[in-house]
Amino acid sequence: MPLIIVTGFPTSGKTTRAKQLHTYLTERIQTAPPSGSAPKYRLHLISDQTLSISRSVYDLSALPAHTRSANASEKDARASLYGAVKRALSDRDIVILDGLNYIKGWRYQLFCEAKAVRTPSCVLQVGCSRERSRLLNEARLAREAAVEGAGEARREGNDVDGDGDGGNEEGAYEPANWENLVFRYEEPNAMTRWDSPLFTLIWEDGEEQAKQVFDSLWDAIAGDTRKVVKPNQ
Ligand code: ADP
Ligand code: MG
Repeated sequence: MPLIIVTGFPTSGKTTRAKQLHTYLTERIQTAPPSGSAPKYRLHLISDQTLSISRSVYDLSALPAHTRSANASEKDARASLYGAVKRALSDRDIVILDGLNYIKGWRYQLFCEAKAVRTPSCVLQVGCSRERSRLLNEARLAREAAVEGAGEARREGNDVDGDGDGGNEEGAYEPANWENLVFRYEEPNAMTRWDSPLFTLIWEDGEEQAKQVFDSLWDAIAGDTRKVVKPNQ
């Protein structure tokens, strides 16, 4: 099935929403089939973290200016993500792609990939103000610095950053890298085929709103009324 492209600023809450959506879809898939039959869909969550892609691949400031256009590490990262999506994607597999997905040409490529296997795609935009996202990244940087100081505790697997996630928090972006990614971010546009249908959740949206958005997302890509995808459309 269906490809769900999550997009938003760096440290804007994308992974949090992707996980909420994963939980929602797990339940939905289990309850969807008539009792006794196998679930109709398998669910996959793909992200930089699941493929061990480092934040630094997006860092243009680490490269000399003349090589920026050929940022090989980001291209390699995109190739890995693309390969992982391609391997999982089918009419029976729901793929959540949690990541920046900030280049519209990239979203277009993913849209075409879904179309090639005749399965729908959609975009889930995670809305968060620049200022809040920046502060979250700064807080992560500060925690990483503290964790480096407590290297021993980390090696022993303790939750040194004290946020209850066992120390497995996602990496922070270097400030210049963060600014640059926000600058380069290409907002999704619901008027284009590859960014639609477009669903949005903002930071303040609570459980109820999230459920409503996930319900309409399900209807669009997996429900009985979902659009039939023709490869030549
Ligand atoms: P991203 O994947 O975009 O880097 P995360 O989902 O990891 O962002 O979120 C960054 C931080 O913000 C995490 O500590 C997370 O718990 C918190 N967070 C994310 N979304 C929300 C929200 N809607 N309300 C409150 N806290 C949130
Ligand atoms: Mg994330």
